Amino acid sequence: PTGEPEGILWRAEDNDYAPDSTESARINATLLSLVRNEELGELVKTMRDLERTWNHKFNYPWTFLNDQPFTEEFKRKTQEATKAKCYYEQIPAEHWEAPEWIDDELVKESNKILEEQGIQYSGKSSYHKMCRWNSGMFYKHPALANTRYYWRVEPKVQFFCNVDYDVFRYMQDHNKTYGFTINLFDAPESLPSLWPETERFIAEHPEYVAENNMMEWLVDDKLRPEHNKKANGYSTCHFWSNFEIGDMDFFRSERYEAYFNYLDRAGGFFYERWGDAPVHSVALGLFEDASKVHWFRDIGYRHIPYFNCPNSPKCSGCTPGKFYEGASWLSKEDCRPNYFK
Ligand code: GDP
Ligand code: MN
Repeated sequence: PTGEPEGILWRAEDNDYAPDSTESARINATLLSLVRNEELGELVKTMRDLERTWNHKFNYPWTFLNDQPFTEEFKRKTQEATKAKCYYEQIPAEHWEAPEWIDDELVKESNKILEEQGIQYSGKSSYHKMCRWNSGMFYKHPALANTRYYWRVEPKVQFFCNVDYDVFRYMQDHNKTYGFTINLFDAPESLPSLWPETERFIAEHPEYVAENNMMEWLVDDKLRPEHNKKANGYSTCHFWSNFEIGDMDFFRSERYEAYFNYLDRAGGFFYERWGDAPVHSVALGLFEDASKVHWFRDIGYRHIPYFNCPNSPKCSGCTPGKFYEGASWLSKEDCRPNYFK
């Protein structure tokens, strides 16, 4: 009933997870948050949630990243929210800024069209940069060079369930590459050329495609055929990347690097509004074995307007089974039926 996965061996009470221990049972992993100084208040609330439900037992370090320098207040208040070590890192400009082959005039024109189509954030250049950085740069930050697993955390998200085992250790022991909580359709207008570019890439590199891949999930057109049409063959289904627990070795692999570079050259992070969620998801779906992706059904989670809320005595503060909050059309955005099929 708790939804906890099978084969859990690593519980805090049986192992050394003291924050400063040099012999601790922690594996090579960090909580990771790209965040702005202005989001400090929301971030601290989220940190308290995750510390209360999980990290106070395991004391995994937090790494905060920002394209700007963090303020002293930011450093003090975040460190006050955890016993674990905190690291504060600035993103090198060459990781954040648009590459030189991007044409500013073309960006302006194409973003105007996207805005007219009602694509959220399409006129905000920082959002495009953020999506590109989360797609192909985060795992290249020098401060993460010796770190393997990450748990991505955004300000304002909520966690509802007590989780009593080391989830990073679970990933490692069960040979998982990627864990998600929420699985959604995307706005097809934000990525009309992502699938065509991807098809060109895999035609050039068929050797990168995994045998036991998730292609059917990526191209399923039963539930929402209009999406496939507008996205030129892609269902738009993706793991919602504001939550992810992942193995950076996948993103550092030759196949992912080649894919990211190909997409980056194609320019869709700026001329369209490709999100890092569909980019990660398409890559996982094609280049990774399907068995290496894990649904953390036991991690109660909210990022407005969606939830993952299990029916378990370990959870409080969300309604079991509830998927969305707000307008009823949001219910259509759930792509789990396709994924489980
Ligand atoms: P949404 O979830 O798509 O609405 O986008 P968010 O505004 O939540 O942004 C996603 C994540 O990137 C959050 O963790 C933000 O704090 C972070 N983020 C977005 N833009 C910037 C930026 O320009 N600078 C920094 N440092 N963080 C950003
Ligand atoms: Mn967000």
